[in-house]
Amino acid sequence: MQAVILVGGRGTRLGKLTANCPKPMLPVAGRPFLFYVIEALQRHGVDEILLLTGYLGATFDALIAEYSDELCHLRIVQESVPLGTGGALLHAQKYLAEQFLVLNGDTLFDINFSDFCSTPPPPDGARLALRRVEDASRYGKVELHAERVVTMNEKGASGDGLINGGIYYVHKGSLSLLPAGESSLERQLFPALAAQGKLEGKAYAGFFLDIGVPADFESAQVLIPAQRTRPAVFLDRDGVINEDRHYVFRPEEFAWMPGAREAIRYLNERGYYVFVVTNQAGIARGYYGRDDVDALHHWMQRELATAGAHIDRFYLCPHHPDFSGPCDCRKPKPGMLEQCFADWPLVRAQSFLIGDKQSDVDAASAAGIRGFLFESGNLLDCVKALTS
Ligand SMILES: [Mg+2]
Repeated sequence: MQAVILVGGRGTRLGKLTANCPKPMLPVAGRPFLFYVIEALQRHGVDEILLLTGYLGATFDALIAEYSDELCHLRIVQESVPLGTGGALLHAQKYLAEQFLVLNGDTLFDINFSDFCSTPPPPDGARLALRRVEDASRYGKVELHAERVVTMNEKGASGDGLINGGIYYVHKGSLSLLPAGESSLERQLFPALAAQGKLEGKAYAGFFLDIGVPADFESAQVLIPAQRTRPAVFLDRDGVINEDRHYVFRPEEFAWMPGAREAIRYLNERGYYVFVVTNQAGIARGYYGRDDVDALHHWMQRELATAGAHIDRFYLCPHHPDFSGPCDCRKPKPGMLEQCFADWPLVRAQSFLIGDKQSDVDAASAAGIRGFLFESGNLLDCVKALTS
């Protein structure tokens, strides 16, 4: 999955804040705002990101330098003159996949990206993520008929309504409707697609913040850390997510447990982080390599995406004491869990683990969280009972 983030704008409404710093690079709780946008994509399995830069474009090199171990590979495409949101995409056309996500670098909208992209956008068209707000007048209303967008940008209409959330799933063929040079997705492409019946809209209710004006930038300092701080569910892999067939490392050997994908989606949508913590001693024993396990986890992530679900990150222990000596990560040791707590802002008291062995539950106890045994049945039923 490819995502394109528009970060080239001048950010004039923020006044002197953006005199020397592009809006997406402004610091929020110690990190550039853009970091949080990219983090949300990565959690959903997006691993190819294009940054379309313009104003003060060299600033973005600092993000890549400072966070290279936390962020996936980012490609920067710099425009030399301002081209607008449409022109920036045309300028980067040779790097674009057949269909791709587009996000605004000054907006954080917490949607289920896997669900949003679980079916392709309309051929030569696009899909918009929409947000319901109490006062749509500042933004412009979007009117839907079934899932088709009928009208956009109806400014001035007060009252509650759906607005453009600034996240799009675009079929590359739609860009042929844009004129050469400077152009706008919002004012040109999307109204044209709506008129042709090729524009879909899908509403999401998650956290939404646009740092375009000073008051919202100020509140972001508190709201973003608060919404990132969440409980986690740690899932053992073999015997919980998939049948334990001993040293599984190929998709053809992998069988999902009943309700596993649905359980993960259920947790995703209730605001839990979902991490896999798995002992993979088959690596120490030489049965398979780390690359094989990583490839299987990529495959799992793609399969989960078709069910609108995702794992936020996979943690594995490749060791076995008889083959690679002692370690701190092999369950029942709590090392993988402690690493998660170091990597993410987690609410420990509401976090818990589900495993199929006593060693899983013991690892949870050692990390000071609750652990539950899942021995048979449907994982969704289990998860619902534990979170009710
Ligand atoms: Mg197990």
